[in-house]
Amino acid sequence: MAKYVLKCVECGKEYEDDSFRLRCDEDHEPALLRTIYRKKELTVKDELPGMFKFADYLPVGRVIDCMGAPLTYKSERLGKYLGLEKLYVIFNGYWPEKGAFMETASFKELEAPSVLARVPKDCGKTIVVASAGNTGRAFARICSENGLPLVLVIPQQSADQIWNTKPFSDSVKLILAGGNSDYFDAITLAGKLVGLNGFFPEGGAFNVARRDGMGTTVLDFAATVGEVPKHYFQAIGSGTGGIAAWEAYLRLAEEGRYGNGCMTLHLSQNHPFVPITESWADRLPEIPASDPESDKMKITETCAKVLTNRKPPYALRGGVYDVLCESSGRTYAVTNTEAYRAMSIFEKFEGIDICHAAGVAVGSLMQAVENGIVASGDLIALNITGGGERKVKTDYDLHYLEPIACFSDGEIGGRDAVHKLEALFAGV
Ligand SMILES: [Zn+2]
Repeated sequence: MAKYVLKCVECGKEYEDDSFRLRCDEDHEPALLRTIYRKKELTVKDELPGMFKFADYLPVGRVIDCMGAPLTYKSERLGKYLGLEKLYVIFNGYWPEKGAFMETASFKELEAPSVLARVPKDCGKTIVVASAGNTGRAFARICSENGLPLVLVIPQQSADQIWNTKPFSDSVKLILAGGNSDYFDAITLAGKLVGLNGFFPEGGAFNVARRDGMGTTVLDFAATVGEVPKHYFQAIGSGTGGIAAWEAYLRLAEEGRYGNGCMTLHLSQNHPFVPITESWADRLPEIPASDPESDKMKITETCAKVLTNRKPPYALRGGVYDVLCESSGRTYAVTNTEAYRAMSIFEKFEGIDICHAAGVAVGSLMQAVENGIVASGDLIALNITGGGERKVKTDYDLHYLEPIACFSDGEIGGRDAVHKLEALFAGV
């Protein structure tokens, strides 16, 4: 018997995992599946690689090589500056002196290992990942290190995001959506590839392994501090990280050893592109339709591009709206000026560079302090979703992944795209 089942948040139907299932079969509104672990007790297994120390709460039957795991520590100087007595940083990134070894400098390194280890070794299929940047970088690194087959589809303008500290293995292939293509064009192209034999989609928010991987941030906090936080701060694009944090909290609440308190989600986006922030401020159960061109304009004005998902999993059952309701959550809009200031303050006090998205999270914590939303004695978790990139680039010469093909904007929507993909992978 597997150590977990998948349960539909909407209808409650349970499934044994076939390693690939993303959705419920029943005819109802869109809903997430959630992992239900049969053994409720969480035992941290430090002997396993990286994040797999939390394997009890990961839907995996094996482990693969990885170094990255969240690192929780008590902030002394930033906490003091903000007047917070119990501020803990969950650091995701590269900071070897502190014990943090995500060489992609991004918490996306918590998603790729669990997604890949959910699938049996030698399943004979190749995973297809569409990405605009750091997700792709994380999958490329982990697949390369483990010799696992991957096809990565990204917009050409993000090609410089796909780097590694070592040369890439031949198991990893890159396809570009060229010209002015954006993330959604990359998704369209990847969708055509998963229609061919021998490929399967990574699945995004619908993949339980992706969410449970990200949820290890909350597990690490609880294992380090001994209880769940009262307030959990994280910047979001799709909001999947917020869903994952809430699901991890629910498991710990049921586990029982980490306190009986409630955890409030504090989720932030980068002004002016803040669809989740605005929708939740008005308690809307769905994000209102908007003009794609106006959205794209707003996105160009943000500094944290990874936070700009135009189709987040907000309205579906078990999605962002639901977890904000359940956690009495709050949302924040953080301007570029606030984010840059927060990045600089964090580096000054904590001694490590952080990414723009993490700057947005720190900026939201500053707003919460200013507005009296958190009290000085509250137990607070601040998820730094990316840090140490400058340090990686100082410590290593970077290797970039060469594309095997580039599709023009016109080609992606056309009929010949499938033939071109078939020809590329014929005999592979
Ligand atoms: Zn269902």
